Amino acid sequence: MSTGAGGTFSVEPNPNPCTDAEREAELAHPAFGMAFTDHMSRLTWRAGEGWSGRRVVPYGPIQLDPAAAVLHYAQEVFEGLKAYRHTDGSVWTFRPFANAERFSRSARRMALPELDPRDFVAAVESLVRVDRAWVPGGVDTSLYLRPFMFATEPFVGVRPSRMVEFYVIASPVGSYFAGGVAPVCIWVERETHRAGPGGTGAAKCGGNYAGAMAALETAYAHGCEQVLYLDAVTGTDVEELGGMNIMAVFDDGTVATPPTSGTILEGVTRSAILQLLADRDVAVVERPVSLAEVVEGAKSGHLAELFACGTAAVMTPVGSLRGPDFEVTVADGGPGELTMSVRGELTDIQYGRVPDRHDWLHRLV
Ligand SMILES: *Cc1c(COP(=O)(O)O)cnc(C)c1O
Repeated sequence: MSTGAGGTFSVEPNPNPCTDAEREAELAHPAFGMAFTDHMSRLTWRAGEGWSGRRVVPYGPIQLDPAAAVLHYAQEVFEGLKAYRHTDGSVWTFRPFANAERFSRSARRMALPELDPRDFVAAVESLVRVDRAWVPGGVDTSLYLRPFMFATEPFVGVRPSRMVEFYVIASPVGSYFAGGVAPVCIWVERETHRAGPGGTGAAKCGGNYAGAMAALETAYAHGCEQVLYLDAVTGTDVEELGGMNIMAVFDDGTVATPPTSGTILEGVTRSAILQLLADRDVAVVERPVSLAEVVEGAKSGHLAELFACGTAAVMTPVGSLRGPDFEVTVADGGPGELTMSVRGELTDIQYGRVPDRHDWLHRLV
């Protein structure tokens, strides 16, 4: 099935690429996920045949049959990683095999075919090589890479699709939140849950995000930018945000983060931060963290910092938590010292400003 995995991608150049001036204009002020590069990688899967057609093609609309399974039953998974330009002009990505392996786990959960991690990484490499001019070089900028796989079989009966497509698209990005690294207000969601035991919470699938859009609207209505989800069984423990993991720093110097026991997405950023904290001999524990502990801690001062983490926003300080009947400010509401220091160290590694002692970087160009 994976014959030739990691093999060469043929390139069909875009006959109408952006002009240098158009591209430079995009790269000067990259918004998050608004503009896309001139090409995309693709691979096709057919039941009984496996994967074929490793190609880089012009970026553009995808033709789908209206009965394509993904449009009805959301059989889809995706990934998110970034390409960083170093000062010598070389381009690198961060732990791509961790994303590739998580992509396989997500695919298994959604009854989609597994893509060999070598093909996943080769698809990313091939696209970034062709569109290397799209990797911005400004402070905190990068090329966001979005691999995704979806069911294309035209069939509205319910069973795993026998036809699947995989693509990688890329978008030059600056800071994820409009305000840069400014503390955000988080809405504590009590009406809905993003995941439950045995559900799809540990898979990176579009369905989890679709189910979270309504709570995001509630958050916006209350002046918050993001949603914090609680565990679906007891409603007492914090789990994660809609697209980021969460960590709490206490005034005794310890750090706690909820364990990835099936309802939480296993973040690559989360795991890198756990390693960087361990390197500093910070006492970091993966254990259930109750909402009461966070709220009481914010009130008493025992909670020193609270931050969210993920590839898109790296590390985002949480300034305040709001719910239907309460609001608390974390410390003085400003970005915490440990948060900013670890964020600095992680981005220094990603941008090649300090040695990559854990071998996390993978050269693309
Ligand atoms: C992608 C994602 C994260 C963060 O994962 P990273 O690998 O660090 O980018 C966290 N939670 C959810 C729900 C996600 O989809």
